[in-house]
Amino acid sequence: MDSNSLPHRFVASLSLLSSRAFEDDFIGLSSKRRYLPYLYFWMIMNRFFLLGALCAALGSCASVKQAPDYTKLTAEERLQAATQIAQSTIVVDGHVDLPYRMKVGGFTLKREVLDVSVRTPDGNFDYPRAKAGGLDAPFMSIYIPAANQAIPGASKALADTLIAMTERIAATFPDKFAMAYSPADVRVNFAKGLISLPMGMENGAGIEDDLANVAYFHRRGIRYITLTHGKDNLIGDASYDTTATHGGLSDYGAKVVAEMNRLGIMVDLSHVSDNTFRDALAVTKVPVIASHSSVRKFTPGFERNMSDELIQGLAKNGGVMMINFGGAFLDSAYTEGTAQVREHVVNWLAENNLSRSDPRAQQYIQEYTAKFTPFPTVERVADHFDHVVKLVGIDYVGLGSDYDGVGDSLPTGLKDVSMFPNLFSELLRRGYSKEDLEKISYKNIFRVWQAVEDFAASQK
Ligand SMILES: [Zn+2]
Repeated sequence: MDSNSLPHRFVASLSLLSSRAFEDDFIGLSSKRRYLPYLYFWMIMNRFFLLGALCAALGSCASVKQAPDYTKLTAEERLQAATQIAQSTIVVDGHVDLPYRMKVGGFTLKREVLDVSVRTPDGNFDYPRAKAGGLDAPFMSIYIPAANQAIPGASKALADTLIAMTERIAATFPDKFAMAYSPADVRVNFAKGLISLPMGMENGAGIEDDLANVAYFHRRGIRYITLTHGKDNLIGDASYDTTATHGGLSDYGAKVVAEMNRLGIMVDLSHVSDNTFRDALAVTKVPVIASHSSVRKFTPGFERNMSDELIQGLAKNGGVMMINFGGAFLDSAYTEGTAQVREHVVNWLAENNLSRSDPRAQQYIQEYTAKFTPFPTVERVADHFDHVVKLVGIDYVGLGSDYDGVGDSLPTGLKDVSMFPNLFSELLRRGYSKEDLEKISYKNIFRVWQAVEDFAASQK
């Protein structure tokens, strides 16, 4: 059943063996049937006594429940243990782009819902694969492209649509999915075997220029807001933008953060510039998150990932950074390798006088890309966890895959939501405990989420 079953079975069989030995002796000593009831009574009591004695000899029964040394298991046994942990533990993912995938796929409120209750041929997320991987609470990303910021009202309108589409998934498949607005909701859904669909809004542009919209989106069920996306917005500067419109968090942005604190919406600092990150840490009254950011050490110069200084700042704040699985987030060698592949393809098309849409070209591109793209490994993902753990400890790191949001850049062995156990297995191989995996899976993000909820409750 779980990893503790081995020692239990050992104790049980020991006790059984010794009782059998007594049984044979006594039956040999006396064949008088009338003694048999007393004999059986004695044997049963003896079994309890033996178990008690064994427990006492070992210190206590609790000590019998020692976890196995995962580092000494075979790869197959370790993957089995990792799968058991993923299945029996709440697994939260900070960022899954299913709403965006539905929108790109042409699914709108006017059309039928994308059926993720069954295995879908494309994408990284659906119910069967989530169940296989032990994923229980993927934060649905209500993603607003920066282009919407140019049109007043367009960001809020899109957020409303994506929220309604997410709610529709839960309403259409109530035996598989449920909305979730708190850690308590996730726990209740988990107990029922349902996959929770908490929501985070990716890009504070949805708030437009009206602070009252923070309360509006809290009512709509949004539980984190990523302050910016690709471009600077009214709240602050973004990591992908070099304009430095505000030099960090704007005055309006500081008010937005205060309002999010007051209402109980987590502040998400993925996508913001370093200056916005520092400013937000300085003004927030509660721990923050980075819903899908990795470690900058492995991608030098990539501001979208977190520097050691920011990781330390986040740990001091009591927050959690959730590691992104996208290739560009994991290794700069991936970004360089894909650039080389792209360049080769362009040259090859020119040399062969073929257009990209030609069937011959398509086949070549597909084969060449598959062969020469340096996809990151599960080991590289584990390196990101190791780095955070060595720098600040196990309490500040979680999972923020960005599934359905990073295209075909995912690591070999982590291509979709069914593969979390591969990562867990690698972490166990490196000496992480079951408790460590629980912190990564949900305890760290629940600590932050609960602190945010508690602070909001204290403000009422
Ligand atoms: Zn993102």
